[in-house]
Amino acid sequence: MITVNGRTYALAHQPTVVVCVDGCEPDYIAQSVAHGHVPWLKEVLATGTTLVADCVIPSFTNPNNLSIVTGAPPSVHGICGNYLFDVASGEEVMMNDPKWLRAPTILAELANAGQFVAVITAKDKLRKLLGHRLKGICFSAEKADEASEDENGIDGVVERVGMPVPSVYSAELSEFVFAAGVELMSHERRPDVMYLSTTDYVQHKHAPGTDGADAFYRMMDGYLGKLDAMGCTIVLTADHGMNAKTKMDSAPDVVYLQDLLDQWIGASVARVILPITDPYVVHHGALGSFATVYLPNGSDSAAVAERIRALRGIESVRTRAEAAAFFELPADRIGDLIVVAERSTVIGTSVARHDLSGLDAPLRSHGGVSEQRVPLIVNRKLRDIDASRRWRNFDAFDLALNHVP
Ligand SMILES: [Zn+2]
Repeated sequence: MITVNGRTYALAHQPTVVVCVDGCEPDYIAQSVAHGHVPWLKEVLATGTTLVADCVIPSFTNPNNLSIVTGAPPSVHGICGNYLFDVASGEEVMMNDPKWLRAPTILAELANAGQFVAVITAKDKLRKLLGHRLKGICFSAEKADEASEDENGIDGVVERVGMPVPSVYSAELSEFVFAAGVELMSHERRPDVMYLSTTDYVQHKHAPGTDGADAFYRMMDGYLGKLDAMGCTIVLTADHGMNAKTKMDSAPDVVYLQDLLDQWIGASVARVILPITDPYVVHHGALGSFATVYLPNGSDSAAVAERIRALRGIESVRTRAEAAAFFELPADRIGDLIVVAERSTVIGTSVARHDLSGLDAPLRSHGGVSEQRVPLIVNRKLRDIDASRRWRNFDAFDLALNHVP
């Protein structure tokens, strides 16, 4: 047994794979089942354990991947976005560096307890966080050709997997993750625990039930079926859901909050931070349904909050203290206000700061409470499961290690 962040986990007694399918709105699974593309999943839904869980808010990639691998909310592990305003340095920075991580991962502790642990992520931006202090294998599909024994615990990945390194904007980037997972599991010395994390490039572009989405889930189903046939326990969950964020003319439905605050209280007096921001803007133009606002000392934050709350498309506005408690966020890493948009609306900074030229399909994005529902599916009938309680995606390792018969 190991104890990590206040929770106790048994060591894996059979090969165990936790899969985080980026942007997997539950309807993607329903539609691909209905269209006959996912025979393995269909069987698991009938014979395994099927739960719907809540991800952490903001419903973004980094906070949720770190919640899954620490078994804890952002208030514990500290990763509350892909991007933050570092109050200490006065700079806006990416949150990819492990220096931001405040908690150990289950993965690293399992490895410390002697288990063979492997982590494969689609995008390299997550690799250092997921692999923090991990004595095992950890590499990204994006930089698979650079993987080395010293840095990643493995080399020759591209040759072993037999697939070229895919484009960062492709379904194949996620396929590489699954193919590499099957490859690692097919050797005599196979991982006790494996964590696979894909990218939501497909989900940002393709709605549930469309050809592009169905093809992705069909591909995934084939690889998961192979892992199942090798005797793996598989837990499938997601970092967040995904919804259309468009007006009826198909343009993105955006509340440009920095522009509004500049009009209301003066240019650049307030600072709007969009924690969805990352270098891969083609997906979403840095538009999501969550923002945090820094106000200068002495501001009438209650009045500003009230004015934002009255905007069309805004679902909720909370103060730092309220949001830290309600969403379990680290209070020292969020602004004075936390703003969440409704299901079909996103929040931007200024019109001029969003490059939407890369959006070649109507905007689909996430970040809000409307993308909080995610699948939590296990290919085993679990014991002691209360399907009516509130499950979180960060219960995945608890289910896999403590509840599999
Ligand atoms: Zn994501």
